[in-house]
Amino acid sequence: LRLTRADLEALPNYVPGRSPADLARELGLPEAIKLASNEVPYGPLPGVVEAVAEAVAGAHRYPDMGVVALRAALAQRYGVDADRIATGCGSVALAEHLVRATCLPGDELLYSWRSFEAYPIVAATSGATSVRVPNDAGHGHDLAAMAAAVTDRTRMILVCNPNNPTGTAVRRAELDHFLDTVPDDVLVVIDEAYREFVTDPEVPDGLTYADRPNVAVLRTLSKAWGLAGLRIGWLVAQPAVAAAVRKVVTPFSTSMAAQAGALAALAQADEVERRCALVVAERSRVTEALRKLLPDVPDSQANFVWLPLGDMAVDFGRACESRGVIVRPFPGDGVRVTIGTPAENDVFLAAAEAALA
Ligand code: PMP
Repeated sequence: LRLTRADLEALPNYVPGRSPADLARELGLPEAIKLASNEVPYGPLPGVVEAVAEAVAGAHRYPDMGVVALRAALAQRYGVDADRIATGCGSVALAEHLVRATCLPGDELLYSWRSFEAYPIVAATSGATSVRVPNDAGHGHDLAAMAAAVTDRTRMILVCNPNNPTGTAVRRAELDHFLDTVPDDVLVVIDEAYREFVTDPEVPDGLTYADRPNVAVLRTLSKAWGLAGLRIGWLVAQPAVAAAVRKVVTPFSTSMAAQAGALAALAQADEVERRCALVVAERSRVTEALRKLLPDVPDSQANFVWLPLGDMAVDFGRACESRGVIVRPFPGDGVRVTIGTPAENDVFLAAAEAALA
C-alpha cells in the first residue's frame, strides 16, 4: 500500500545546519560556533522581542490575513505599491508559491547550479521540471548560457543574486542584457535574500527591475534583519502575479509574531545598516586570510564566503567541527562559511589553517 508520491523518495531533504548545542555536548565544550545558516551573529534588533510579546497577547485570534500594516510599511520603505507586495512564511515559501503560480506539471523551472539548495526541492514538489545551467568558471551565474537554455516549456527562471552558496553576484550590464533577451512570458525571479550585504555598486538592486512585467523580486527578513526564527519573507511583482501568489499561499501563514516582529525590525534600519557594515568588514578580513590558504576563494557580496574545495569539502567540514565550528560543506563541491563575530571568525580561521596549511 502506498499513500505518498513515489517521486518524493528520490528527493533530498532540505538539510538545516547542525545544532551547536549538540556539537558542544559531543566535544565537551561550553559552546560551539554555528557559521552554517547565513544568520547574522547579533541578537534580535532592539524592540523586536517586546513588539512580538505584545502582539501575541492576542494569539487566540487569527493574524491579519491581508498583512496590511506590514505591507504598507514595506511599500513605504521600498517605494513600491502595497498591492504588488505579498508576504509568506520565509522567502523560501514564496519561491514555492511562485512556482505553483506559474508552472504546471512538466513546465520548466530554470536556474543556475550550484545555487540555493531549496530550488530543486521546490521545483520537484510543485511538479515543475528543474533545468540546471552550470555556474561559470568564477562560480557565478552564466547568464548567456541560462538565456540559451530557455525553451517553450520554460515558465520561470530563478536568479539568485548574490548567489547562495558562492557569494558571487551578477552585474547590471549582464542582468539588463539577460532580461532583454528572456521572452516576456517567462517570469524572472531575482532572489535577493542577501541584498543588504552588497557593496559593489555595479550589482543592481533588483527592485529597479520590478516595473518590468515579467520580473519578481524576493526578499527576506531572515538575514540582515535578524528574524530567521520568525519566518518572514516578501516579494514584489506585478499586481497580477502578486495576486496569484496570494491565492496559492497557505492561509494565515504570515503569523502574528512575524508581522509584529517585521514591523518593529523595519523601524531599526539604521541599526541594520550598522550591523551589515560590521559583517562586510569581517567578510573582507576573512576572505583575505582564506586566500592565503586557498587562492581561488571568490569575492563575496553576501554574508558568507565560499571555499571551492571540491573533494576535500566534507573533510574540511569535519575538521572545523572537531574544533567546535559548524560550517556547511557541499560534498564534492565546496564549503560555505557564514561570517560571524570577529571572535567567531578567528576561531574558524584557526580551524581552516589547521585543516589546509
Ligand atoms: N533565498 C536564498 C538565496 C537563501 O539563501 C535563503 C535562505 N537560506 C532563502 C531564500 C530563504 O530564506 P527564508 O525562507 O528564511 O526567508
